[in-house]
Amino acid sequence: MKFESHFRDLFENSKDFICFLNNDEIIELVNPAWLSGFGYELNDVVGHSIYDFIHPDYRAEYRRNYKEAKAHHKIQEAGIAFITRGNEIIIGEGQIGCFSQNADHIYCSLVFKNITDQRQEEKVIEESEKRLKAFLNSGPDAVIIINEYQEILEWNLMAEAIFGFTAKEISGKTLAQTIIPFQHREAHNRGMQHFLETDEGRILNKTIEITALHKNGKEFYINLSISNVKLNDRWLFIAFLSDISERKRTEEILIKREVDLMQSKLMEEKKDEFISIASHELKTPVTTIKAYTQIALAKCKDCPDDVVMCLTKVNQFADKLTYLLNELLDVSKISLGKLNLSKKETNLNVYLPEVLDSIRYVTKDHKIVLEQNVVIKSMIDPIRLEQVITNLVNNSAKYSPGKENIVVRSAIKEGEIMVSFTDYCIGISPENIGKIFDRFYRVDETSGQFSGFGIGLFISSEIIKQHGGRICATSTEGKGSTLYFTLPISHETEQSTMPEDY
Ligand code: ADP
Repeated sequence: MKFESHFRDLFENSKDFICFLNNDEIIELVNPAWLSGFGYELNDVVGHSIYDFIHPDYRAEYRRNYKEAKAHHKIQEAGIAFITRGNEIIIGEGQIGCFSQNADHIYCSLVFKNITDQRQEEKVIEESEKRLKAFLNSGPDAVIIINEYQEILEWNLMAEAIFGFTAKEISGKTLAQTIIPFQHREAHNRGMQHFLETDEGRILNKTIEITALHKNGKEFYINLSISNVKLNDRWLFIAFLSDISERKRTEEILIKREVDLMQSKLMEEKKDEFISIASHELKTPVTTIKAYTQIALAKCKDCPDDVVMCLTKVNQFADKLTYLLNELLDVSKISLGKLNLSKKETNLNVYLPEVLDSIRYVTKDHKIVLEQNVVIKSMIDPIRLEQVITNLVNNSAKYSPGKENIVVRSAIKEGEIMVSFTDYCIGISPENIGKIFDRFYRVDETSGQFSGFGIGLFISSEIIKQHGGRICATSTEGKGSTLYFTLPISHETEQSTMPEDY
């Protein structure tokens, strides 16, 4: 009796919905919580099928659990949505239990807790988690969230792409076990410890460049910024990272290029310095040799022929050496920007034959033919232009051994004076023709056969540039070359051509 009154109290006062069904699933009794929760009077409920109060979408689920409970006389856990009198939905979580009083009479009870609000909250949390995930995955950065034990809590899709670990693989592991390179792990742990003790973090809220470890073991550069927030009295650290290895590689290449450039510039400067000092130092003894040789030659009127021949040779070689040293000095003047011209207006039709006549000594084996000579004036430095002409005739002779003619022409072309030098022998290949005016450049295939320094054309091109002209070459390999320079025309020039054999 005592127990019966206890059970009645429980039934009457329980906040859970309690309902008893007969064998045919007709409601026999419900508790006050049921009535107030569903908005019914006892008469509206008793005698009605339980299905009248279950949401259509959940009837099958209820039916399955009910049958199971009834068949095995046991309690079935179930989640069911009910409908109230006002057509609202109540989400219930509870049990369906079936018991038999005797073989014919089986009765069932439903005891359900109202979890509608809880479900609602769960739904809100679920939604906001979904939104957070979408936000984390929407940016271009890898986002990693760790707790104060360094355990990884969040690992977005970009982090998967950058580091090669999936979120599932890495969840719960620490950064020091995974993406922090071995050499930084101790410092990282110390930094974290220091922060937890003092709230001071050296790298917090800054952007730094550091290396990280890919799943495949390769170390690469990342941009990293970490911020910290306190949640429920615990620190969370949010890291935004991006892979900058490509940019770093480009930077490294650029830095290397810059260093190489500086080194080669330094080398060039040293070379220029050496050339300048060496040619200056050598010039004095060569001038002295030349002077003494000339004195000896002058005093040697009655000397035996072979002695005179030897002295003449020494004199000639001293000239050659002086020419070379002057060229080297010109190279250093050019690098220092000190090759100064002294120009004057000159009749080229007079100047050109005179120069060609004076440099006949350059070649004994070739005939220099001035095939065409234009009557025209130009502002030139006669000495420097003679140097260019000497060089071009010298080259035509040097690179056409065994050939007879070197043809020189001057003409007017497209408003400029053009002076050309043509030889008929080895020629220059297309891949070398663009380089022959570079300092110290010599064509590999022929450099062993012909002596030279590879500076004559370089000096010539600088002299011509300072005249406001251009120097160029055309060639057919094995047939010969034409090297030519252009000069600006002086005003008021009478123009005519005067072919002349020289
Ligand atoms: P080098 O003292 O070597 O002659 P240059 O500066 O005068 O120096 O010429 C540079 C290079 O150009 C030469 O080494 C040679 O290979 C090539 N070259 C110049 N002129 C001719 C030419 N007329 N025919 C063929 N090759 C030439």
